[in-house]
Amino acid sequence: MTRYVFITGGVVSSLGKGIAAASLASLFKLRGFKVSLQKLDPYINLDPGTMSPIQHGEVFVTDDGAETDLDLGHYERFVGIRMTQDSNVTAGRVYSNVINKERKGEYLGSTVQVIPHITDEIKKLIIKGSKKSDIAFVEIGGTVGDIESLPFLESIRQFSLELGKSRAMFVHLTLLPYIEVTNEIKTKPTQHSVKELRSIGIQPDVLLCRGKNPINQKLKKKLALFTNVPETAVFSAVDAESIYDIPILFRDQKIDEFMLKQFKLKSKRLNLSPWNNYRSKAGKCKKTVKIAMIGKYVDLADSYKSLNEALYHAGIINNRLVEITYLDSEQITKASVKKLKVMDGILVPGGFGNRGIEGKILAAQYARVNKIPYLGICLGMQISVIEFARNVLKLKNANSTEFNSKTKHPVVALVDEWKDNSGKKIISDKKNMGGTMRLGSQDCTLSKDSLAYKMYEKLAINERHRHRYEVNDSLLELFNDSQLKFSGRSKKGNLMEIVELKGHPWYLGCQFHPEFTSSPISGHPLFNGFIAASKKKRKL
Ligand code: GLN
Repeated sequence: MTRYVFITGGVVSSLGKGIAAASLASLFKLRGFKVSLQKLDPYINLDPGTMSPIQHGEVFVTDDGAETDLDLGHYERFVGIRMTQDSNVTAGRVYSNVINKERKGEYLGSTVQVIPHITDEIKKLIIKGSKKSDIAFVEIGGTVGDIESLPFLESIRQFSLELGKSRAMFVHLTLLPYIEVTNEIKTKPTQHSVKELRSIGIQPDVLLCRGKNPINQKLKKKLALFTNVPETAVFSAVDAESIYDIPILFRDQKIDEFMLKQFKLKSKRLNLSPWNNYRSKAGKCKKTVKIAMIGKYVDLADSYKSLNEALYHAGIINNRLVEITYLDSEQITKASVKKLKVMDGILVPGGFGNRGIEGKILAAQYARVNKIPYLGICLGMQISVIEFARNVLKLKNANSTEFNSKTKHPVVALVDEWKDNSGKKIISDKKNMGGTMRLGSQDCTLSKDSLAYKMYEKLAINERHRHRYEVNDSLLELFNDSQLKFSGRSKKGNLMEIVELKGHPWYLGCQFHPEFTSSPISGHPLFNGFIAASKKKRKL
């Protein structure tokens, strides 16, 4: 029988509900429970795939190819379980399912309404997303009080009534602002936010109070009085030095024990050693390594969330703190690219569209010529192929058809556009491509004599994709006798997955996104290797 923990947020957005949910779930996983995590997002988009990373942060891709909210990345990193298509539900998806059913006549002539049809659909999707887990953690996106959250909150209210208190719990994450001039922590916004929840029939069982410092007993008492939450269920969620300290900070307050009691669950002993080990390793990192990230969405750190985390993980594994300098690729010129000299490693991340492409090409060239470790991800790999074709093979106009559809040397193109040497035959692989994205985890085979093999220490790997364009298989001959080697290919052998440069200390581009599968405990082979090489460069 699955127990459900519903996590809502109050007062302001961006309080870290995803990290709180992931941290709680981690504690139960480490007690031997089967846990699941799910994010319900109240916006109308079917998924965040079409949203700008500057507005919404990165799009996280699952093994089965779902384009999802970045919180799912936290879930995977903290808990080590794989998210699926069912792990992220948007209002758009709910409404679309209901409208499809209505068109099929499944509602037998009734008027289709928010209650019960939309709420029933939400409940069904929650059950689908909790897949036989012992404890399901369900995070409701947005902030209590938003109009669009209402059907979701109503659904979880009904759900808890149907299951009873021993099987459903409401955790409310809220902010306690600190007023500096009077040296006071204020509870009023939390009182209002809980009042809002109670007015729609939800009484929180647990309050998690965000703030700079832990709250004292007096404040807990006051909050309890005004929110009808027992004093023993009011916990602090303080700003932590690292997000990976949060499971330990929750555990120190015995939140997990409180929840076990309400759920009337017996549990094995908690094994906190993964987090304790991580913490002690992180605490020892003093020296730094400098990485330049040449991106387009540099104004919002969340745009590259998984990348930042993967670099940070690899740093801890290499006993280094990674200092990331975000550089806007549009600002990089022939003159300014020389500033990259002080960097220990250069990373060109994924991206879409024309803007800033030339700056990225300059950065990749600088890394190649000056032997600075280079990691190109997705677009970053395509950039390194274009750069090499232009500057080493002297094909001045080499490009991707994404940026110049009429280029004479389309070294990167849609699979549909690949032509053979005579320029006539069009190779088509509609199943994988055809104007839509290649998404999700796919197999890749590595060459034995390669940097990639050295990093992964195995020949068969699988990694997650999110892109439309590919290295042009029909122009591969151009690279035959060059230093640029394609060391990873798709199972069929026609799609280039990894490119590397012979005679360079560490230069690798991958068509997939390794950042999605990096974990704080073991990092990811490519990031671990990239940071190790950058560390070496620093010593030179
Ligand atoms: N724009 C490129 C493509 O669609 C790269 C995408 C990416 O970096 N995720 O192939």
